[in-house]
Amino acid sequence: TSGRGDADDTGGGTQAAHFVFIPLMAQGHLIPAVDTALLLATHGAICSIVGTPATAARVRRTVDSARQSGLTVRLVEFPLDYAEAGLPEGADNMDNVPVEYMQNYFHAIALLRAPIESYFRAHAPYPTCVVSDFIHPWTTVLAANLGVPRLSFFSMCAFCLLCQHNVERFDAFEGVADHNEAVVVPGLEKRFLVTRAQAPGFFRGSAEWEEFADYIERARAEADGVIMNTFEEMEPEYVAGYAAARKMRVWTVGPVSLYHQRAATLAARGNAIAIDADECLRWLDGKEPGSVVYVSFGSIAQAVAKQAVELGIGLEASGQPFIWVLRNAHEYDEAARAFLDELEARVAGRGLLVRGWAPQVLILSHAAVGGFVTHCGWNSTLEAVTAGLPVVTWPHFTDQFLNEKFTVEVLGIGVSVGVTEPLMYQAVEKEIMVGRDVVEAAVRSVMGGGEEAEERRRRARALAVMARAAMQEGGSSHGNLLDLVSRFKAAS
Ligand code: UDP
Repeated sequence: TSGRGDADDTGGGTQAAHFVFIPLMAQGHLIPAVDTALLLATHGAICSIVGTPATAARVRRTVDSARQSGLTVRLVEFPLDYAEAGLPEGADNMDNVPVEYMQNYFHAIALLRAPIESYFRAHAPYPTCVVSDFIHPWTTVLAANLGVPRLSFFSMCAFCLLCQHNVERFDAFEGVADHNEAVVVPGLEKRFLVTRAQAPGFFRGSAEWEEFADYIERARAEADGVIMNTFEEMEPEYVAGYAAARKMRVWTVGPVSLYHQRAATLAARGNAIAIDADECLRWLDGKEPGSVVYVSFGSIAQAVAKQAVELGIGLEASGQPFIWVLRNAHEYDEAARAFLDELEARVAGRGLLVRGWAPQVLILSHAAVGGFVTHCGWNSTLEAVTAGLPVVTWPHFTDQFLNEKFTVEVLGIGVSVGVTEPLMYQAVEKEIMVGRDVVEAAVRSVMGGGEEAEERRRRARALAVMARAAMQEGGSSHGNLLDLVSRFKAAS
């Protein structure tokens, strides 16, 4: 198979940098990668974004509107060979790949190397740099064969990356049998406690994934640099610390969601939305400033049915207006679905349930929103920071536990519901439930009055000001974007 690109109008001068983005096809990786590509294009780079046809379709509106505004950016599509990889037909994104097929999925993606390589050899302009998600280790070979540098793309914070790196580099869990026993993260000035359950490392913890985990680590170590969706002023010591630990240049370019400045492009960010954007904004217009709590667990996690009931009752009891995003509510059993319908009727006017995809950043930017109950996915966390919002932290898997630590202990803008072990992927056997009382108390604490709550809000607002400044002319992220565009220009 060979790729299919949009009409080749990307020849914006042979001198321009041409970044080939190879995102992981999961909304939490794809959305920020696309935003980053668009930001680079804003500063004159040519960007090609690689994806499967179905995943490309999810970001096509965003890319098309950028093209219409004159940016040299295109999507290049490569279908997966489902049969060859033993993968169910159509399983092309982390949100629709059954967990038991994850290895097949990564195999299928790695098979794209040869077609991607041939495509870019045959279609001008020739790439000047590969920007690949850190979970695509095979792109080391791709970049080497094309003879261009490769940057690892992370929509993660430097704090999380450095903690994880140090825990592994210094064998912090050596001799610790209990995965809930806390150890101090080595090599940092400030003291942070972390358990193996919270920081097992990417793809670590089960024998069948060890080889892939090692492959990813080698690829990360061999990268020519790192692009990170964060901003320097929020975590200067960790950005510097990670660059030093990896001995490589780190370009912080975030918050990349700030690429979107208009309601229309914000509402088109990610999947097709399950609620009319205008209706949603009108609903928010009717609420007091800072009164609404937004609840979402991102693009992959979802509360199990029983947990959704506890969460719903807790939200209702908090007395706050809320928008609650339920990703796959249709998968719940009948009792839970009936509960949601009844809840919806009871809280009509005060609570809005979104069954499917919500225009998250559009909602968070509205003055009526005053807090965010989040699973601590890094994009959601940074979007909360950008909107100046305090958060209730409810991590589910991977880096989300370290992101929680960052928001609560470093930034001081979060209140934890107290989940200490993964609920997905590397999950433990026992059932973990957050009770309705805990939900209610956490929401009241973040949304309520009192000195602590005010202090969290003040900090969050100050961070939002810093985030915007980083992206403006003269700001750190803005400068890093310009540096990337000039450094990776084609040799004349
Ligand atoms: N998102 C959204 N609407 C939804 C769910 C998610 O716009 O209903 C966006 C959200 O704004 C963020 C991304 O999807 O940019 C989710 O990324 P995150 O890192 O927070 O979590 P993940 O989905 O990777 O677990």
